[in-house]
Amino acid sequence: MGPPSSKEADFQGMNLLPGPIAVGAYGAPAQTAVEALGMGARIAERLRVSASVPWMSKSDRSPVTAADYAVQAAVGRLLRKRHPALPMVAEEAAAALRVEQAAPLREAIVKTLQDEAPGASEDVVLDWIEWGGVEPPEGGPFWTLDPVDGTRGFLAARRYVVALALIDRGEVILGGLACPGARPRSVDGGRADDGGNDGVLALAVRGGGAWMTGLGRGQWAPMGVSDLGDAARSRVLVSAEPAHLDTGRLAQVSSLMGLHRAPTPMDSQVKYVLLAAGEFDLVLRLPRRAEKQKIWDFAAGVCIVEEAGGVVTDLEGDRLRFDSGVDLPNPPGVIASNGRLQAAALAAVAKAKKSAA
Ligand code: AMP
Ligand code: MG
Repeated sequence: MGPPSSKEADFQGMNLLPGPIAVGAYGAPAQTAVEALGMGARIAERLRVSASVPWMSKSDRSPVTAADYAVQAAVGRLLRKRHPALPMVAEEAAAALRVEQAAPLREAIVKTLQDEAPGASEDVVLDWIEWGGVEPPEGGPFWTLDPVDGTRGFLAARRYVVALALIDRGEVILGGLACPGARPRSVDGGRADDGGNDGVLALAVRGGGAWMTGLGRGQWAPMGVSDLGDAARSRVLVSAEPAHLDTGRLAQVSSLMGLHRAPTPMDSQVKYVLLAAGEFDLVLRLPRRAEKQKIWDFAAGVCIVEEAGGVVTDLEGDRLRFDSGVDLPNPPGVIASNGRLQAAALAAVAKAKKSAA
């Protein structure tokens, strides 16, 4: 391999890994993940602050933007280059881009990628995106990517993240979330100026702990959940998207737990970062509809919360399962907490369900 291009040299060493991860068995993919997530966040932010981001509706009527595709292409390209034997299972499919009406989107994607891949053609870029369109291989290992998690938040200038995880034999062994604009107070000793983007990068490796640093550059700080045991005082996060949240059930659960404070709405897996950083105590996902949940919407968040000392289960108290394709086999709905509050939250959800039935 020749010397890295100047762009790649920029990413390399930008965020040296936290010690316990650097020396572990997953040091190499962890370094790749840090680079991929930093690059993904930069690409998405570049598009977000531009005049208007081209987007279209998917068959499930959810929006997809040039940023979703551009990040998937760039991350796919980097992962394939570094770890050619590890497949990537990603959210977006290139097929929707091959139609006539998608020409403005294709152009915006290719233009956006000129920094990372000067001169890349539409065909080549579609090929990188397509590389992510595989089913999880049985057993594994494989990457899973949500290039923009919280696309509605991205379009509405709220929160979104770039989410990348490595799954092996049903366990998430590495999870990373790049969260532009979201900055836990505890990152980087509370210093606001890290000389880079305003945002946080969280990274966890199974057995190596959960860590965060400023997006751009900064010191790594260990993440740890809160130690609150009094359910009534919980600081709770829920989805910001009304269509994703059963407000009636949430009201019931809030009252059963005697919550003093109204839950805070927030898009995307950034909720798990704020829980793992100890700034919130509980994440409640109480969906309106019984839609299947996708592995890329949870894998990185689960690894980060668990490695920070927290617990993530479905509404019945079972751990989320990553051993059965792109859909989680668990029933929809998730409770994540600092661990101490898990039983109280599960009991309230079970009771609310009973009274609704
Ligand atoms: P959040 O910002 O927490 O609502 O999470 C965003 C994710 O919710 C998206 O990536 C979707 O995969 C998922 N989602 C989409 N539709 C629904 C729905 N009807 N109920 C719950 N979650 C959904
Ligand atoms: Mg997405």
